[in-house]
Amino acid sequence: MRIPFVDLRAQYLAHQEEFDDAFRRVIERSAYIGGHFVRTFEEQFAAATGVEHCISVGNGTDAIYVTLKMLGIGSGDEVITTASSWISTSETITQAGARVVFVDVDEYFNLDPARLEAAITPRTRAVLPVHLYGQAARMDEIADICRRRGLRLIEDCAQAHLAAFDGRPVGSFGEAATFSFYPGKNLGAYGDGGAIVTNDAELARRCRMYANHGAAVKHQHLVEGINSRLDGLQASLLSAKLPHLSRWTAERRRVAALYDRLLADVPEVLTPRVCPRATHVYHLYVVRAQRRDDLRDALDNAGIETAIHYPTALPLLPAYAYLSVNTDDVPNAVRNTAEILSLPIYAEMPDAFVERVAAEIRKFYGR
Ligand SMILES: *Cc1c(COP(=O)(O)O)cnc(C)c1O
Repeated sequence: MRIPFVDLRAQYLAHQEEFDDAFRRVIERSAYIGGHFVRTFEEQFAAATGVEHCISVGNGTDAIYVTLKMLGIGSGDEVITTASSWISTSETITQAGARVVFVDVDEYFNLDPARLEAAITPRTRAVLPVHLYGQAARMDEIADICRRRGLRLIEDCAQAHLAAFDGRPVGSFGEAATFSFYPGKNLGAYGDGGAIVTNDAELARRCRMYANHGAAVKHQHLVEGINSRLDGLQASLLSAKLPHLSRWTAERRRVAALYDRLLADVPEVLTPRVCPRATHVYHLYVVRAQRRDDLRDALDNAGIETAIHYPTALPLLPAYAYLSVNTDDVPNAVRNTAEILSLPIYAEMPDAFVERVAAEIRKFYGR
């Protein structure tokens, strides 16, 4: 029997009636775009995140783009972000009209606060940290630097629903934060979805307007905006899923703790380091492995699916050749790309599967 990297069907089967009902209610009311279900989910998600306003949008990428744009970030500005992320984080900076500045990562795979200050120039307007793999970046230091240097702080929380730093939920540290509800994310729709959260009522109003063709009131377009919305079907499903999220998160943490224990004495594999002040929600369980590619082949031959998040550091992608970033500018991010391996993890993953993955890894290294 193959061990999948994630199993979205397992979650569906465990809640089939509940999720089917969520869709049926939307269809019965024909509330496909906007309306009751979207508003309700926005209120629930704001409460779950401990933030006042939630603006749902079409996906997590749009959430970043709309936020940057509505913070007035654009031409002539620089935005600092991490060298290790999914391209949404950086491509939206460019889409907004600003210049991306990449900073290397720390031992937790996140933007390194110690290297942040050196990247600040007179043109720097904002910092966009990512809570990669589900672990909060070191928000105390990052927020402190932003405050001292007068920079906007936007958190990319796409992989970090319910993660926290010093007990404070991610999404509440800066001017605004963005989430993704891509199906495989810790809170996933059955299609695309995303959200912006903020405590700033004026910013919330502007983001909502911009994502709705630049109109706060129908047909009164104050600016040219975009069309980016979470639909009623997805909102209703997400409302049905949200009450389960903290239990699912605890289950992810169970899987991670079991991997940690079973791999602790395999010197060829470094299990994820967790900052003592961060609460990790394990969107991904990423190890650093010697002979990574051979290990990945061996696991594949044993019927175990793995993945690499991400095979190339953002600044070294062809898309960023124009920035002329060197390997030595982001050494940790580049070294990680040769070593990282994402092991299967999902809330419903049985202990027996985790044990089988760990046993195959041990066998590969002769441990
Ligand atoms: C998934 C993801 C996004 C974007 O989400 P989409 O909903 O797919 O647009 C942004 N940033 C990070 C770090 C992500 O993992």
